Formats: sequence, structure tokens, C-alpha cells
Amino acid sequence: MIKISNLVKEFNINGKFRAVDDVSLEVNQGEVYGIIGLSGAGKSTLVRCINRLEEFDQGSIEIEGVRVDKLNSKELLNLRKNIGMIFQHFNLFSQMTVSENIAYPLKLAKHSKAEIEQKVDEMLDFVELKDKKDSYPSSLSGGQKQRVAIARALANNPKILLSDESTSALDPTTTQEILKLIRKLVDNYGTTVIMITHQMEVAKSICDRIAVMQDGKIVEENYTKELFRHPKSEITRSFIQDISIDDELDIIKSSAKGRLFRLTYDDKSYNSPIISELSKSFDIDINILSGNVNKLSNTNVGYLIVEFIGDDRKIDKAVNYCKEKDIFMEVLNV
Ligand code: ADP
Repeated sequence: MIKISNLVKEFNINGKFRAVDDVSLEVNQGEVYGIIGLSGAGKSTLVRCINRLEEFDQGSIEIEGVRVDKLNSKELLNLRKNIGMIFQHFNLFSQMTVSENIAYPLKLAKHSKAEIEQKVDEMLDFVELKDKKDSYPSSLSGGQKQRVAIARALANNPKILLSDESTSALDPTTTQEILKLIRKLVDNYGTTVIMITHQMEVAKSICDRIAVMQDGKIVEENYTKELFRHPKSEITRSFIQDISIDDELDIIKSSAKGRLFRLTYDDKSYNSPIISELSKSFDIDINILSGNVNKLSNTNVGYLIVEFIGDDRKIDKAVNYCKEKDIFMEVLNV
């Protein structure tokens, strides 16, 4: 249904840089297809090419036999109506209520008032948020915000949903709830879902097939079970290793005194003494509870599970600092 052939996307930063490097893949209708990789692997860029939020340089993308790069601007608008998108940070309109957020794409598509009301109700029902229809996003939890984002992405009955790290800002229980909702979407509507994630446990629990991306290339692709049974590349093995910490995590969480985070880092951040820097600069105590570092060819990648103890505002500042430094942070408890 979605066929990507030899896709190349280059950015010009001090010369040409290939963010997507000769990628080919096919996703079937009603399939949940995972794309996993470290930060900077090219996952978002690849997926943004599907609805031409990024224009690509070489190769082709076909959706139901239609070449997306050949569409004129009107056809492109129609294509985008057929492709919903959800993100890590929800991207809701803060000045609009839940209902208004969901109604927004329907208004753009010029549906009648009655049609909009009916669809908004149906979507609120689907994401189980009827009681929040007049609330503003600021009063919702992360999981509820993502439910609204999903309802808005589905309002136009898209055949395809692109999910870009949609569970990364959520705690594990809420993550599972959102994954269940995505599964319900596939089962009820036959939607095709492409899930970008850097979390193997997310890919494992929902994806039918998984592609592993590194340095702009797909280094491995397989059915989920097969990928786990016979990982071929070093990077896939390292992602699978990370998953075994899930059991350990339950124990860590039950005895945590502060706020728990998992920091995923690459060579850049690994080489700087980030933990002592955070502790000193933001006057918080940091306990390292678990971690590993994998050597992949000449790169170090790894994770640390850390506990931040101290004033909440100082912890928030430390979290923002990590984001600025491009260190991937997941919230493990609330
Ligand atoms: P991922 O989603 O796997 O984290 P991205 O697709 O966001 O990776 O980025 C892949 C690479 O392309 C990164 O090195 C990133 O810095 C670069 N990149 C992404 N978007 C742009 C842009 N608009 N201009 C320049 N470089 C970009």
C-alpha cells in the first residue's frame, strides 16, 4: 500500500548530508510498521517524506499506486487529509478546547456544522474523553493530551497514521494505554500505522514488522518475532538488550524516592560528564540506578536510569537543559 523505493533526502549543512540514504520499504494496509533507531538516524525525515512535509531528492513513494511526488498542490492537500500524524509533544492548540481541537481539521475540510458535531462526538467516544470535551489542553494529563491528538488526527478518517515518538513523553502505563488505542484503531478501521520510536519495548508490543534505521539507512527489517529471535545487526542487538531492563524497572520504581528518567545518549553526550554537570548546575541530587553502554563500531550508545531528587522547579530546569543538549529523556514515573 505504501511503497518507498530508493529514497534519498539530503540536507545542505556545510556540504551535502544524506539524512535518508537509499531507503526502500513496503508497508501493507492495516499493518503497524515500526521504524526504530537512535536520535538522528533519519526516522522523522523519512516519514515526513511520505506526506511531503519534506521534499525528497531521489527515489519514489507510492501510496495505493499513486506517486506522491507527482501530485499537484490540490492533490497533495487531499493526500494529507488521508494521512494523520501524531507527535511526542502532542502539538495541540492550547487556546482551543478538546472539541475545538478535534473539529479543526474538519472545519478546514469545510464539513457542515452538523457533520462536524457528529464526528467530534464519535471521536471523543473512540478515545474515551467525552467528559473532557470542553476542557482546555493545559488541564489534561499527557495521556489525555495524546488521546485528543489521536482523535484530531483521525477526524478526517485517514487511511494512514504516522506516529512520531508519540509515547516518548509518557510514563509506561500511559504508553500502554495509548498503544492499546492505536491497536483498536487498526482493528476497527483497518488504518495503516507507521510508528517511529527509539523504544524497542514500544515497537515490540505493537508492531507487526520493524525496520531498524541507522545513519539514514535501513540496516535490518523483519517480522517482530523474527527480529527478536535472529537480530542480524549490532544495533538491533543493542536495542533488544535494552528491553531486558523492563523487569528491573518495576523494582527500581517501587523504591524510588525522586523523579525517574531514562537518558538515552550517543557519543556526543557520552563524552561529556553530564550527570555531575546537571547536579552542580541545578543543585539537585542524582542517583544512577541502572545503565549500560554498548560499543557499536566506533560509537558508544547507551542509557542511564537516573533518579533526580530536589526542588521540582530545579528538576524541570535540568530536564530542559538535557533537551537542549539533545539527550533523549523519558519520564519513568510521575
Ligand atoms: P530521527 O528522527 O531519527 O531522530 P531526523 O530525521 O530528525 O532523525 O534527523 C536525521 C538527520 O537529519 C539529523 O542529523 C538531523 O540533524 C538532520 N536534519 C533533520 N532535519 C533537518 C533540517 N531541516 N535541516 C538540516 N538538517 C536536518
